[in-house]
Amino acid sequence: MAGNTEPLPPRAKLAVTAGKAAAAVSRAAGRGSGSVIGGKVALRLDPDLLAKLAQNLDVVLVSATNGKTTTTRLIAEALRAAGPVVSNALGANMPAGITAALAGSGDARYGVIEVDEKYLAAVARDVTPKAIALLNLSRDQLDRAAETRMLAEHWREGLSGSKAVIVANADDPLVVWAASSSPNVVWVAAGQEWKDDAWSCPACGGVMQRPGDDWFCGECGFRRPTPSWALSGDHVLDPHGSAWPIRLQLPGRANKANATTSAAVAAAFGVPPQAALERMYSVTAVAGRYDVVSFQGREIRLLLAKNPAGWLETFSLIDGPPAPVILAVNARGADGTDTSWLWDVDYSRLAGHPICVIGDRKLDLAVRLEVAGVDFQVCENAAEAVRQCPPGRIEAIANYTAFQDLRRVVGN
Ligand SMILES: [Zn+2]
Repeated sequence: MAGNTEPLPPRAKLAVTAGKAAAAVSRAAGRGSGSVIGGKVALRLDPDLLAKLAQNLDVVLVSATNGKTTTTRLIAEALRAAGPVVSNALGANMPAGITAALAGSGDARYGVIEVDEKYLAAVARDVTPKAIALLNLSRDQLDRAAETRMLAEHWREGLSGSKAVIVANADDPLVVWAASSSPNVVWVAAGQEWKDDAWSCPACGGVMQRPGDDWFCGECGFRRPTPSWALSGDHVLDPHGSAWPIRLQLPGRANKANATTSAAVAAAFGVPPQAALERMYSVTAVAGRYDVVSFQGREIRLLLAKNPAGWLETFSLIDGPPAPVILAVNARGADGTDTSWLWDVDYSRLAGHPICVIGDRKLDLAVRLEVAGVDFQVCENAAEAVRQCPPGRIEAIANYTAFQDLRRVVGN
């Protein structure tokens, strides 16, 4: 428990030291922060290290297909109202990266940890979290709906005996299915823009009925639980019925939903909504995402979106005057090598915006846009795309490695 700081046993200390040494070597060799390699070395020497590092912390785990890095950041800011926080802020979200982050926890009282969806059950077993936030589940790149359903089942089995408070999105049937095996769930009406993965009932395979914001299965009775927290327009509604305004610097409905979930998590740790939300307002960008950079007389907003649900949420950010949009798609390892997911996205929301297409797979995207009847031009690279746009605001939406490429070109 927090505050009751037990020293690490000798083997765990050795593992932490060896991990830090490996990370330092990796850094010196010019291979990034080295935190993942350090974590791998440390876990090899002491497989129980993650559990030992977590034992002095009150831990929150955050998992989802989309929004977990941002929500982790918002929860970390909110909990700083109650004490020092350690977090894997740069998104190294598998066990080695999480171990490396916690090894640097110092005198932290809270651990706010983003976890890859596939590792959630295992990490939850190791770190005995006090709370787990579950935001959404949808297909990621080439995952098919059946694989997303299996992931929900994996969560459901892994969380069934958990003593953690599960803070879960009542509007995502797969998340509800996964969370409802737990004895202690706080439901949040956080909304769901992307519904394509939630038309069949996760409990029985029946057809889901979706009147308005409600949903239920006509076959087995599986239905939307009554939420105690909700996002309503620009406000968080708390369980007492009070409405708290959301004044984030981060754009979009999806981030208001992330803030609502974060306020519910903070409340589970005794931080009231107003204090939690005010802390969240300081966040302007998360690991470079949402950053607005000046480049060649333009203001370019950098938006990362990795899968169909992410692209759809991102399109909803760019309402207002029809600013030029740069779309960048690669298909390297971290992106998934197949681009057929581009066909799952509805591009009609971009109608009226001048569009430039770049990236390794710009021609795949061009074919898709052509079929959608949306005007666009194909550009050789980011610099050329920017030159095509008039001075002023540009929205740039990119998948994972395309985002890294873009930041290298326009970042400052
Ligand atoms: Zn059903």
